[in-house]
Amino acid sequence: MKGSKVEIVQVLDKKFTPYINQEEIAELVTRVAKEVSRDLRNEKPIFLPVLNGSFMFASDLMKQLGFPAELSFIKFSSYQNTETTGTVKELIGFERSMKGRTVVVIEDIVDTGYTMQTLIQTLKEKEAKQVKVVTLFSKPEARKVEVPIDYLGMEIGNNFIVGYGLDYNGEGRNLPCIYELVKD
Ligand code: 5GP
Ligand code: MG
Repeated sequence: MKGSKVEIVQVLDKKFTPYINQEEIAELVTRVAKEVSRDLRNEKPIFLPVLNGSFMFASDLMKQLGFPAELSFIKFSSYQNTETTGTVKELIGFERSMKGRTVVVIEDIVDTGYTMQTLIQTLKEKEAKQVKVVTLFSKPEARKVEVPIDYLGMEIGNNFIVGYGLDYNGEGRNLPCIYELVKD
């Protein structure tokens, strides 16, 4: 953010205003990385960033752990079910066995909690020893189901954000800081 001038960014048809700058994000990531490293380095954890949103956070976080770790990306693939009108979401990308492992899920943001609930359930079915949840942001006001968050960057209000991995309809993931939607 240069001086006091607020630089509005246009992403597709919406305007976004700066919300969390790069320095602030870096502080959150460094603190979380220290906590995770302190607690889990002796567990030989496997880290599971949830694509696409967590790619930048996961990259910065993993670099700061300070020990060699195992990493495997997962993703919710949604596809139109031809037999029904609904959209089916499937978890893909499990390349390694989760059985008996300490699994550390890396998320960009926990909103309603449905994504994390599904993921934790899946990891239990895959017989993970324990599941730890790391998320950069959480929107407690938006929560529909309770999910455990073990490591949190910060709580935010119920506003739509983009940047640092988060998109608006496919755009804006590359923005280096966080912007929030300007309501019209
Ligand atoms: P949940 O299942 O908790 O409702 O949603 C989690 C996912 O929704 C996040 O991983 C993220 O991809 C998306 N999401 C939730 N809130 C926001 C937001 O404010 N901005 C963006 N870009 N994505 C969000
Ligand atoms: Mg996500």
